[in-house]
Amino acid sequence: MLDWSRIDTVILDMDGTVLDLHFDNRFWLHHLPATYAERNGMSHDEALTHLVGLFAGQQGSLNWYCTDYWSSQVGFDVAALKPALKHLIRERTDAFSFLSAVKASGRRLWLATNAHRASLELKLAETTMGDWFDAMVSSHDYGAPKEEQAFWQALQTAHPFDPARALFIDDSEAVLDSAARFGIGQLRTIITPDSQKPQRSDLRYPAIDHFAELGQPTRQEPASR
Ligand SMILES: [Mg+2]
Repeated sequence: MLDWSRIDTVILDMDGTVLDLHFDNRFWLHHLPATYAERNGMSHDEALTHLVGLFAGQQGSLNWYCTDYWSSQVGFDVAALKPALKHLIRERTDAFSFLSAVKASGRRLWLATNAHRASLELKLAETTMGDWFDAMVSSHDYGAPKEEQAFWQALQTAHPFDPARALFIDDSEAVLDSAARFGIGQLRTIITPDSQKPQRSDLRYPAIDHFAELGQPTRQEPASR
């Protein structure tokens, strides 16, 4: 449970936190390699090995999250392949009822994603998620991923907030490390970002599977902000 009286601002990651990471894992580790294999006359395993090697070289950088970058690497439009799997884009567990409850409580509710704007737009078109957020930020807007302090500094400049009175939830521990360094007061991670994979263990941050575990956000009067 959380002490909601200590929280003014709720900031949520998108993929693996609000939305099921199954779509992204399926896309990057199956659909993209299959397309790459077909276009280059190689086996699926050869394509996967090649692509995973390329992914590893960019992990944690903005390129890793950038469909334009990967289009330039593979030689075809990566973002254009995504709609084929759009039926896999769905909320994670009770995410949308949590968004609704936070919004109704009077707190500021922001989405902060490392996803490219094109990926964000696809997910907004396929879900009702956008109805609840006051602000939706892609780290590509700031030229720095959430793993870097520059992201948090740019976020605070664009949307002033008190980090000590913020709750931030993300399935990436590298991102949570960066948020902790910036002084975000309450941090949580996600036990099962991908509904088709086993639960994770040995996580370094307090972890939840269902948002209901955080308790009901108490009503916050505007005057107390
Ligand atoms: Mg994530």
